[in-house]
Amino acid sequence: MSDAETLFERIIAGEIPADVVYQDESTFAFRDINPQAKVHVLVVPKKRYRNVAELAAADPELLSAVVATARKVAELEGITESGYRVVFNTDGDAGQTVFHVHAHVLGGEQLGLFGR
Ligand code: C5P
Repeated sequence: MSDAETLFERIIAGEIPADVVYQDESTFAFRDINPQAKVHVLVVPKKRYRNVAELAAADPELLSAVVATARKVAELEGITESGYRVVFNTDGDAGQTVFHVHAHVLGGEQLGLFGR
């Protein structure tokens, strides 16, 4: 297992410091170290799956918990009314760099279009 694969597990375990926004028994939310919007929070399941496709296939309830935590983060950050984006980068062309599935919750300002 590479460092990249264990990074979020070490953050969840408190071995690497993070700005924690919320956690419950199955999910963990913390601010992205390199924010791409005024609000940029990562939501991860405490149990590691490589990407959202593997999570959806193996444990749909846990995927539902990740999405519910994204909604909770939006509430805590005060961006429910203004709107926000939830993104799962999945493998190569999407630029996924950490292979522990995570939802990016982005908002707090007008976001640009995405694509290329
Ligand atoms: O979707 P992707 O795999 O590219 O996203 C990984 C995210 O993890 C990046 O946005 C990066 O800034 C973030 N990160 C972090 N803390 C670290 C390492 C990476 O928030 N220690």
